[in-house]
Amino acid sequence: MRIDVRELALGPLTLTGEVPVADLRLDSSDVYVLGKIVVTLRAEKHAQKIRVRGHFAVDIELPCARCLDPVKAPILAEFDQFYQSNADHHLTGEIELQEKDTGVAFFSGEFIEVSDIVREHILLGLPMKPVCREDCKGLCPYCGKNRNVEVCNCHSLFVDPRLAPLLQVRNRMKF
Ligand SMILES: [Zn+2]
Ligand SMILES: [Zn+2]
Repeated sequence: MRIDVRELALGPLTLTGEVPVADLRLDSSDVYVLGKIVVTLRAEKHAQKIRVRGHFAVDIELPCARCLDPVKAPILAEFDQFYQSNADHHLTGEIELQEKDTGVAFFSGEFIEVSDIVREHILLGLPMKPVCREDCKGLCPYCGKNRNVEVCNCHSLFVDPRLAPLLQVRNRMKF
């Protein structure tokens, strides 16, 4: 899904369409998109700039920060962004500076890729520390078992080194 900038010369454009998950290039992240991403947007020309406003909603899944089990999180994104063709600028450094200062994004060629907008807003909308449940016990730091599912003995095996001599005495008495 892309916005054909040339069409905007004729008037504002309203688009609704699906953005394929593969276009989001999220493979290297831990984020899985559940279901379809349907974006509705309106694009219009304001002098040299293009304003793109729209929204989408999708559920995503990412690992629990403590136990790595999948956690489902809703993403509700609304965007309102100005774009400018980078053909108007010749220095890359200048573009980066302007993007930071004014919030204007840049596009090259004749199209604005909607998948770029969606990707950005999914990454912005991710919870900082997702947990599968408030009282998630996480993984055992010694054996790696999920402590929500299994109880391991690591805690009793790994004692404070200062107590180790006492433990040896106790073990000697046992055998
Ligand atoms: Zn968890
Ligand atoms: Zn353990």
